[in-house]
Amino acid sequence: LGTISEDGGGSRIMVFVRLRPMGKKEKEAGSRCCVRIVDRHDVYLTEFASETDYLRLKRLRGRHFSFDASFPESTTQQEVYATTTAELVEGVLHGRNGSVFCYGATGAGKTYTMLGTIENPGVMVLAIKDLFLKIRQRSFDGNHVVHLSYLEVYNETVRDLLSPGRPLVLREDKQGIVAAGLTQYRAYSTDEVMALLQQGNQNRTTEPTRANETSSRSHAILQVVAEYREKVSGNVINRVGKLSLIDLAGSERALATDQRTQRSLEGANINRSLLALSSCINALVEGKKHIPYRNSKLTQLLKDSLGGPCNTVMIANISPSNLSFGETQNTLHWADRAK
Ligand code: ADP
Ligand code: MG
Repeated sequence: LGTISEDGGGSRIMVFVRLRPMGKKEKEAGSRCCVRIVDRHDVYLTEFASETDYLRLKRLRGRHFSFDASFPESTTQQEVYATTTAELVEGVLHGRNGSVFCYGATGAGKTYTMLGTIENPGVMVLAIKDLFLKIRQRSFDGNHVVHLSYLEVYNETVRDLLSPGRPLVLREDKQGIVAAGLTQYRAYSTDEVMALLQQGNQNRTTEPTRANETSSRSHAILQVVAEYREKVSGNVINRVGKLSLIDLAGSERALATDQRTQRSLEGANINRSLLALSSCINALVEGKKHIPYRNSKLTQLLKDSLGGPCNTVMIANISPSNLSFGETQNTLHWADRAK
């Protein structure tokens, strides 16, 4: 993989696209597939054009994209994990930080990719499983400690998903920005983790109008911190690596107002964290000196896990249905800019 920033230049962000299978409701609504993935790399958006006419699409701006990898609907959770995140887990064991984001409209497959189901666990669970496996393989003689924190940012309020209650205050200390009082769950094995995360996911804020759905405006952040001691030429040193796995809020509302002025966006109190993340990523990719981390809670929390000597991975989730054409196009454009 190798996602490290190039000297002097911008940070390199790995960008992937995952196409989910057509859903039952979409089929019943008679929707057609409007996305094609070719060679695990190229994505074609085919609204009305003949699906096989790739060459013509290639010339149509905004209809042909290519990413570090693009996953067709048949791709397994394990494949997605192995291609996008396994290398970052390795990095954590070398004391490096990293972050993996799922971006896309509501219903595009972000939570499936990150959390998954009992039968098909997603990136969060597979990463923790792999972390324990790697620790065991290396037999770090019991010196390693793994802590999990699971939190959400909703309307610029930070909450603990493992111990729901009052909003958490962000504080800056020597280690960086921390959420005061956040639960640090000591994990010993993978078995307990899925239940823990599913419980946490149920604690995500729901919007009053969609009582049975997890909110499309809430960002869920799982932080996995591995700490261990290592002997380097006689001295024992403490190493800490942190992996942040983020199930972002639905991108549709932020994008729906993207054409308006910055001011009306602020006035409407649209998802500030999602916009701030976009600004930070664009600044990092362009190699700017000033990265506007301070603009939102999400970017403050991830300051030590984005850019610099960190690894950043973006997974853009999309639906195949022509009913989601506009959202898919927005998501692909957004992902394209993050490259
Ligand atoms: P989001 O979190 O982006 O709003 P979800 O992850 O909840 O979207 O996905 C919407 C629906 O599609 C869910 O029922 C989910 O189980 C299903 N789904 C998403 N991605 C896949 C996939 N790769 N394979 C099978 N089902 C999927
Ligand atoms: Mg979701």
